[in-house]
Amino acid sequence: MKALKRKYDFFSHIYVEEGVKNHPLTKNILKKKDSHLIYIDHYKDVFCRKGQNIASQKLSPSLIIAKKEGKLIYEGAPVCQSFGNEYFYYTSLIMNCVYDCEYCYLKGMYPSGNIVIFVNIEDIFAQIDNILKLHPVYISVSYDCDLLACESLTGFVEKWCLFASERKDLTVEIRTKSAVDVRGKFKVTDNIIFAFTLSPNTLYAREHNTPSPLSRIKAASFALEEGFNIRLCFDPLIYFEGFKEEYEALSYSVEENIGFKNIKDISLGTFRISADYMKGLRKAEPYSATVQYPFENKGGVYSYPKAKEEYMLKTVKDILLKYIGEDKIYLWESGYE
Ligand code: SF4
Repeated sequence: MKALKRKYDFFSHIYVEEGVKNHPLTKNILKKKDSHLIYIDHYKDVFCRKGQNIASQKLSPSLIIAKKEGKLIYEGAPVCQSFGNEYFYYTSLIMNCVYDCEYCYLKGMYPSGNIVIFVNIEDIFAQIDNILKLHPVYISVSYDCDLLACESLTGFVEKWCLFASERKDLTVEIRTKSAVDVRGKFKVTDNIIFAFTLSPNTLYAREHNTPSPLSRIKAASFALEEGFNIRLCFDPLIYFEGFKEEYEALSYSVEENIGFKNIKDISLGTFRISADYMKGLRKAEPYSATVQYPFENKGGVYSYPKAKEEYMLKTVKDILLKYIGEDKIYLWESGYE
């Protein structure tokens, strides 16, 4: 049960950059939405305005349709897990998320709670092809959004699956908290990893507008049944009363519904956020005990005190080790001296 029910109203207004008004994806999105349309020169004219109220925009976000320009592919950030891949990148076709997790770093990273969709995925594909001429690429495409949750609007995941299926040196991670049933929707290929973030009930209550833990687990089992690689992300771990018991119950449910032996790997990490983003996040979530917790600033990254972080990681890792080998667990640990 959610402790506080937040109500959402999506996309009453859609802003469209003049330059992409005739892009096929723009036309497709506009066909699906009966919203008030406003044409603009550049997405930043709306998205980067000063003094926006992120908390209220999260409840009633406008959509901004734009073109992504300049550098489209970025090297992985230090707070992100690379899963042992040497060439680790990420890209963002969507900025901001239809979900509203209290602890989401995006509330501190972006000046707005509105959602931007960049329609020119073909330009991203072209840049990846250029990098692939040099070396293999591992890329996360659903960090600053939830790509799968927006699939009915954008069709991006379908395009990523097709693109990856024709490039053996490319591996694409699609991280999600959605419960979208992928069966029969996408080209099945070995180099797509659907990474489902799983949360126990107490944490789920702070992940507003998300599907329940069990429906995410079921969605992961459907993706597995379809033939995709599945990653489970117990990340971020956030401490609460009954932490151990709830992670035991969650892991048991994974074993029952999916079977850990079928999982490609697991990501495990405690909550951490760049100090630059923490200020905005705390402002957007003044009543969230999760984000108002006195985290420690270690080298510009806020995270739990060392003893607590070690307890959380060890507790969940020990639970997982009952089901799965250590070699399949990727830990994110902060750089304590
Ligand atoms: S699902 Fe991820 S990106 Fe979306 S609000 Fe939650 S933490 Fe943020």
